[in-house]
Amino acid sequence: MGKRIFTRENIFNINIRRWLLFGAVALWLIGLPPPSTAGAMPVREEKAPFILPIAGPPGPNTWLFLQPFGNTAFAYRFRRSVYWAGQGLHFGVDFAAPCGTPVRAIGDGVIQSIDSWHGAGPHNLMINHPNGYASFYGHLLVRSHLKVGQEVHAGEVVALVGDPDLTCSSRPHLHLEIRDAPDHRIAYNPLTLIDADWERIALIGGYPHYFEQDMDDPRRWQGLLDQPEVRFGYPLLNNYDQPWPPDW
Ligand SMILES: [Zn+2]
Repeated sequence: MGKRIFTRENIFNINIRRWLLFGAVALWLIGLPPPSTAGAMPVREEKAPFILPIAGPPGPNTWLFLQPFGNTAFAYRFRRSVYWAGQGLHFGVDFAAPCGTPVRAIGDGVIQSIDSWHGAGPHNLMINHPNGYASFYGHLLVRSHLKVGQEVHAGEVVALVGDPDLTCSSRPHLHLEIRDAPDHRIAYNPLTLIDADWERIALIGGYPHYFEQDMDDPRRWQGLLDQPEVRFGYPLLNNYDQPWPPDW
């Protein structure tokens, strides 16, 4: 066995080797995938499939985010009337815009109905998309110029913004829903399916982050993206014993 001689050069070489080994191990660790957690939810990395229904950036002269989807205080107030069929929640998202603002298809699809019984008058439009969703456009100014069965493409103008009060001065806005196709029995939060920077968009507009609170579970459904699906015809989801703001 050779005798180890700890000269200055040898110690230097040993240290270099240690550092090289340490570096190699560190690089290997960095390259490893993160440890998996049993039962963790899969991360949805693909882009949201739809585009905004109105072209251009929001602003006071174009369009503004009005009422979000879900457990809004407004829907709570009208849970037994306007929003009764949708479990007491606002089952779409509202965009304030002047009457006549062009409304565009949020994705490729086929016109499924025009002025159907789905409400949101005076005029409405439903498009079925090949990805299993349908989009519904309500409070339109005039009957759509398109025909049922006609193919449309994302971004194509399909209708014009109107006013449910028929004045064009009280509350002109587009009510947009995203449902399942072809049954249309479930409404999904459009904010999770439209590719847009919603937190930024929500910084301006007519509606603050204002959700009804259930004081027995005050953090539930308080975020723009954290809202439940709506199943039409099912019981109210917001029949709270201790609501805030209080029932009127
Ligand atoms: Zn609405």
